[in-house]
Amino acid sequence: MAVSKAEYERRVERFVRTCRDHGMKVTHQRMEVFRELAGTEEHPDAEAIYQSVRQRVPAISRDTVYRTLASLEEQGIVHKAEILFSKARYDANTDRHHHFVCTECGRVRDFYSEALNELPLPKTVTSLGRIESAHVQLRGVCAACARRKR
Ligand SMILES: [Zn+2]
Ligand SMILES: [Zn+2]
Repeated sequence: MAVSKAEYERRVERFVRTCRDHGMKVTHQRMEVFRELAGTEEHPDAEAIYQSVRQRVPAISRDTVYRTLASLEEQGIVHKAEILFSKARYDANTDRHHHFVCTECGRVRDFYSEALNELPLPKTVTSLGRIESAHVQLRGVCAACARRKR
């Protein structure tokens, strides 16, 4: 699913700002990689991003795409959404959100919930380490898969 034009533009604008703040040049290739991710809610993996960017920028190498994603992640510009699979999936949505993961097709959908944002964390967790972020991952069968099965 594609994101709205307004959201897309907000992400690109934030990307440019964050790069500047971190002294990172907004190169053509970085921009193309980010644009690919900013326009989708699919949480694609690096290979899928590479395959799409290639359509627009045939000269880009797989290695460049992977390295770009890794450096954007290091700067906190994109997030890694470690989900069900061994492959890292990337997420340009850096607003506080949660995930619904379909166990059939592997689709990952964002959702927002003030109530979940404020979920109190059990004291026992702090003995495991310092918490840096928390998000809720729901697993189930998405509407499209449920329809297909019927
Ligand atoms: Zn599904
Ligand atoms: Zn997400």
